[in-house]
Amino acid sequence: MARLLIVDDDVITRMLLNRAMQRDGHQVTEACTGEESLKLAQKEEQDIILLDAQMPGMDGFTCCANLKASMREKCPPVIMITGLADQSSVDRAFAVGAIDYATKPIHLSILRHRVHQVLRERELMQQLATINQQLASTNRELQYLTRVDSLTQVANRRSLEETLIREWARLMRAQKPLGVILCDIDFFKRYNDLYGHPAGDYCLKQVSRLLQLSILRPVDFVARYGGEEFAILLPETDINGTMNVASRIHTNIRNAAIPHANSQAADIVTLSVGVTCSIPQATISNGDLFKIADQALYSAKAKGRNQTAVLSL
Ligand code: GH3
Ligand code: MG
Ligand code: MG
Repeated sequence: MARLLIVDDDVITRMLLNRAMQRDGHQVTEACTGEESLKLAQKEEQDIILLDAQMPGMDGFTCCANLKASMREKCPPVIMITGLADQSSVDRAFAVGAIDYATKPIHLSILRHRVHQVLRERELMQQLATINQQLASTNRELQYLTRVDSLTQVANRRSLEETLIREWARLMRAQKPLGVILCDIDFFKRYNDLYGHPAGDYCLKQVSRLLQLSILRPVDFVARYGGEEFAILLPETDINGTMNVASRIHTNIRNAAIPHANSQAADIVTLSVGVTCSIPQATISNGDLFKIADQALYSAKAKGRNQTAVLSL
């Protein structure tokens, strides 16, 4: 069943069309002028409009153009019914946006097929629009899933690599520094051994949250680098700024006081942190910068963990 608006100044034609369309199970509304049809189409949603071309006052062509202009993509399909079968009237009907036309005297069987066809196309278009919407939403979700670490909800390594390439190029052009922080949870294997893997997972989530709380600017970027390792990119941040963030990380982790009775560095969860900072140059790669940050992290581990070590390129 479809909602159908019949617009015709002639009462006999309206009655004839109304009866035929109701017989096909459609719900019919009638308008006897173009002006009335504009109001009705805005007020009640219609699936199709049968519009007489020749009416006193606003004629069907003007009415169709107005319907299209005011309702845009919400405008239901219009079948123009015209006593004028000449080429220019037919052209005019399509030019003002009619999807089809039928000539008077009306051949009901033909008109019914056309109505059926137009409704079927409309239904298919609506299904297509729904599918497109679902696809777009699935795509957004997929985009998210390919960039976010499912356990911790921070960016994953792939996303880190993309951001690093982008920021490296941008900062090379701007000749501004990029701060890099690598964090590794101390004695995390022992944490899992003592508290179990699910508790270890929960700990990783907590640490991720604390890392995100430790960065303040929208461009700062936290990613899970590996199992219990995290990387932070700080665009346009010099070594002092990068050290400030590293120290805020230690403070936030210490204040969270997540018990770790099996650690040899403290009785709570701690991090070893490697810091480096550089203005990108064509002679070095972003991989070089990460290697230095990794060496700094190694040095923080070697010096007894739960601390930050700094290295420059
Ligand atoms: P270190 O102080 O030298 O960093 O010692 P560590 O035990 O933290 O480092 P190691 O690299 O030996 O072990 C890392 C551990 O992190 C091993 C692994 O079980 C744990 N881990 C890695 N990914 C996950 C994870 O997704 N969930 C849990 N629960 N544990 C993980
Ligand atoms: Mg590690
Ligand atoms: Mg570790």
